[in-house]
Amino acid sequence: MTVPDVKDTNPVPFALPDITEREISEVVDTLRSNWVTTGPKVRRFEGGFATAVGGRHAVAVNSCTAALHLALEALGVTSGDRVYMPPYTFAATAEVVRYLGATPVFVDVERDTLNIDLDLLERQLEQDRAVFPGRGRAVMPVHIAGVPVDMDRLWDLARKFSLAVVEDAAHAFPASRAGNVVGSMPDDIRGAVCFSFYATKTITTGEGGMLVTPDESLAERARSMSLHGLSRAAWKRYESGGNWRYDIVAPGYKYNLTDIAAALGLVQLDRAVVMRDKRAAIAERYNKAFADTRLELPTVPSGVASAWHLYIVRARDEASRDSLIAHLTAEGVGSSVHFIPLHLHSYYRETYGYEEADFPVASSQFSRAVSLPAFSSMSDLQIRRVIDVVHAWEEPA
Ligand SMILES: *Cc1c(COP(=O)(O)O)cnc(C)c1O
Repeated sequence: MTVPDVKDTNPVPFALPDITEREISEVVDTLRSNWVTTGPKVRRFEGGFATAVGGRHAVAVNSCTAALHLALEALGVTSGDRVYMPPYTFAATAEVVRYLGATPVFVDVERDTLNIDLDLLERQLEQDRAVFPGRGRAVMPVHIAGVPVDMDRLWDLARKFSLAVVEDAAHAFPASRAGNVVGSMPDDIRGAVCFSFYATKTITTGEGGMLVTPDESLAERARSMSLHGLSRAAWKRYESGGNWRYDIVAPGYKYNLTDIAAALGLVQLDRAVVMRDKRAAIAERYNKAFADTRLELPTVPSGVASAWHLYIVRARDEASRDSLIAHLTAEGVGSSVHFIPLHLHSYYRETYGYEEADFPVASSQFSRAVSLPAFSSMSDLQIRRVIDVVHAWEEPA
């Protein structure tokens, strides 16, 4: 008797966190300790993370958005300033610039990596130096999908134009390029690198983020502002042995991370390289399996160790992309689109008068992009199912 060929039709989600019994017992340990908010595990998580990325100071906060906001605030970004970034990113990168009354200035992206185009950035900075003298304050590179921007060149531009650098590294832990680990920056650059531990990012604390900087005064300002602008002596009171007396040095925010979240983070940090290697292996299987399709597959520049946060393929055009997403959905395979560029959203169109054609590379690549499931807890069966479903897709003529 032959076994009937049963088709696997189990749904495959787009992304899931990778939580093991180790994370669960570390969280339970925190709950039993009775110290649930910012405390010893947050300090250990900060220390371990700083070591992992070769950074000097790490400040744990409750999101990457908070880290980006605190970094710009500590750098003194204010009303009227211009902050350069790619439009090909998530809402957070630009909204924090708006919190401070500054202007996000979009610069189009490279066709292959979808990262900010440094030739265009240099041209924009030259032009703005004449038109908006003294207004250029910071640049915010975004390491899309976990492929780092060429930071050696970006740092040279920051030196030449006297700009601070705030890296949106929400996708880029762990990652490196040409020996530069994302999270470290040269001492003569003013700035910070911001990571996300959102549910679906490369490591998760549920919600969470980390600001890493070589600059001690920036770290101190960010730490103070993450806790109501309390003085240094005062936030010590959140650790055992603290004093009741506190002073408010500035109207701050409430951005601190809890020890419950840090407990998750400590174990995820320990597993980060293993999880990255699993995602890299999934990407390699997809690259082989899809080589015979007409999809354009993600490429990684030489010298890059990608975090492989996302596996973004590009279809022939928008109709083809939409048909692929509809097919995946019908077959129960999750997918997503990273990203709808910011200049196409109502707020940025209406506030700055942006049009689709202003950033032609971002607009056209967005219309072709689909992210396929590529998370570290994917089973072999799930990986094969994604491959089979993509192969069964009939591209429209
Ligand atoms: C997820 C993400 C963020 C925001 O991270 P949170 O931790 O959710 O605040 C910022 N930038 C990019 C590019 C992201 O993908």
